Amino acid sequence: MPYSLFAGLLLVTTLYSSIASSNADQRPLLSLVIDDLGYSLQLGREAIKLKGDHTYAIIPGTSYAKKLARLADTLQKEVILHLPLQASNPGAPSEPNALDETMTENQLSNNLVSMLDEISMIKGVNNHMGSHLTQFDYFMRPIMDSIKAYNPNFYFLDSRTSPKSIAYSEAVNSGLSSISRDVFLDNEYENPESIHLQFQIWLQKARKQGHAVAIGHPHSTTIAYLQENLPETMAKFRFVSVSKLIKQKFESSRAAENLHADTSSLGD
Ligand SMILES: [Zn+2]
Repeated sequence: MPYSLFAGLLLVTTLYSSIASSNADQRPLLSLVIDDLGYSLQLGREAIKLKGDHTYAIIPGTSYAKKLARLADTLQKEVILHLPLQASNPGAPSEPNALDETMTENQLSNNLVSMLDEISMIKGVNNHMGSHLTQFDYFMRPIMDSIKAYNPNFYFLDSRTSPKSIAYSEAVNSGLSSISRDVFLDNEYENPESIHLQFQIWLQKARKQGHAVAIGHPHSTTIAYLQENLPETMAKFRFVSVSKLIKQKFESSRAAENLHADTSSLGD
């Protein structure tokens, strides 16, 4: 066997075993995000106390935003800013501080920064509503650029409130780490069977993709469902905060790229 081929095979074997050992835990990854925190102290507290490494999205300007952010931080849970953006439906209830299409780039940026300033422990941002604004690059670009300029280590989670959202790709274009929501758990929060079905879809996506992000809300039905079902789900799936999921995804795609580069140079 020529030496270069032998060395190449050795390299591939080593790479495979190092990837295998770094991924010894083969459970699919689940990230659970609870949105819309800040209006109810009691439901917010219950959501934050759910067992596991979950992520909590807090609406700036709400009565309990800071209190709940501090509680989450004390319990070592990840906190993100739940950024209010204009929805397509003009009748939809809107936050008074929502960014909207009447604002100039400077106003979008200044208003965004004052919301980022409000909650000091945030690790990233996701959108609240925003089915209108997330469709347009001329709104998304200055917003993503401002987040990146504020803290280059922040990530953006596209809540995908519109199938036409370009928030994920605009975040990536601005150099932010980014990921998209896979499943909403409780659009029909008064119907426990619907929550159950959405939860199963989330697990199915994670089995297929290796990971999946679900967004739920602080409704008593959702919290009760999660309190009952998270413990047994943890045996077969690993719960990680969104920042850890993004890091893991990045590392495994880098490892796959390196492996590809090394095996394709074997013929030399
Ligand atoms: Zn929301």
